[in-house]
Amino acid sequence: MQNRMQIVSPFVMSLNRIDHWYWCRYFIDVYPECPYRCSYCNTIRMGSVRGLNYIRGLPKGGSTIGLGLVSDLYHPEPKHNRAARSVLEILLGRNHQVSIQTKSTTIERDLDLLRQFAATGSLRVTFSVLTLDPRIAANIEGQAPAPEQRLNTLSILSEAGIPAGIAITPIVPSLTDNRQELARLVREAKRRGARWVLFSGYTPVSSFLQEPPMHRVRALYDNQKRLDNRYREIKRFMIDLLREEEIPLRIPRPNPGPPDQRYHARIVSEQLFNIAYYHELLESPIESARFRRAAHQINDLDSSIKSIVFRKKLGYIKGINPEIEKVIEDIVMNGSCTLCENLKIKL
Ligand code: SF4
Repeated sequence: MQNRMQIVSPFVMSLNRIDHWYWCRYFIDVYPECPYRCSYCNTIRMGSVRGLNYIRGLPKGGSTIGLGLVSDLYHPEPKHNRAARSVLEILLGRNHQVSIQTKSTTIERDLDLLRQFAATGSLRVTFSVLTLDPRIAANIEGQAPAPEQRLNTLSILSEAGIPAGIAITPIVPSLTDNRQELARLVREAKRRGARWVLFSGYTPVSSFLQEPPMHRVRALYDNQKRLDNRYREIKRFMIDLLREEEIPLRIPRPNPGPPDQRYHARIVSEQLFNIAYYHELLESPIESARFRRAAHQINDLDSSIKSIVFRKKLGYIKGINPEIEKVIEDIVMNGSCTLCENLKIKL
């Protein structure tokens, strides 16, 4: 194992706190620059994501590691394929959980390892797919496999029992935000077995706006108010669409682990992060910030949240107001929460 790690020479990075989109604090990248070179990418090079610090060695076993969030783990050149497999073998051997984001179809070759992760609920695979339109995809992410191929791979993984979903990140206003096309993409992904659909808006890198596909619509990006309104409409459309299709717009957190004293904290913090995200989408920034702060506090707790609830000591935790206290009590005591039901968040 040690030798393989030396051959691959991955970069291990950490955030100060958990990333609540992919549920990891730690990330591994194999390449200093992503091989797919999508023209809209704003994380294409090492160091382009703020808040990531390089660390030596791997974190302690049982941590969730993000793979391919900065640069894709799977290289289009077959001669590099061994690298991804080596990383997975090492992480599997150390009982880490893994959240992979990829545009690759090569991941199919590691199905045997992915099955082993999935057997313990320790894996999430998210395929980045912005559009089903092959011409648009060829224009903006020409070195990645076509969207249809990525969905085929999703289907293969899904049939093998691997929890997988898609990320429409970013939705590019005026280029990939056609409603019929977004609905077609979501339904097709669902048909192929996607268990979640992430989506996000887009803050363009300036070089992208110079690309030919953007010439026609560049004026929209010069008018922040119009751009914000456009994204607001897309968000509402996507929330309604995903509710109608009953697909979560969040990745379920990987296995909450053994029923130790931190078990309930992981479950509660997942739901608090979910509520924070819904408030963010529904444009309630203060509520969103409150729930996110509480989620971090609970996630970082060393003691048992269940015992804190039973001893009625929740109010002593910084940032937990009576409304959040009620949500936490509901989740711990009843496994459900009225606010989640109102927001149509599945527990
Ligand atoms: S695959 Fe992802 S990380 Fe790589 S260039 Fe494209 S958007 Fe960026």
